[in-house]
Amino acid sequence: MDEYWVNNRTDTNPNNDHEVHKEGCPVMPDDKTYLGLHDNCNSALHKARAYYSSVDGCIPCIPECHDR
Ligand SMILES: [Zn+2]
Repeated sequence: MDEYWVNNRTDTNPNNDHEVHKEGCPVMPDDKTYLGLHDNCNSALHKARAYYSSVDGCIPCIPECHDR
């Protein structure tokens, strides 16, 4: 299980969505919402959609959940 966060800002990535990050990410944002512990990034993205409709995985930390 890893801890995940979702970026509260959308102006830090080209597609203007809320990116989800895993603990240890090299580009972890400061302004973020804690999503808790998850078995995988798909579970974390599902949780993030409770806060924001437009979410995506961060490329450096969870490339398997990045799709745009
Ligand atoms: Zn990240």
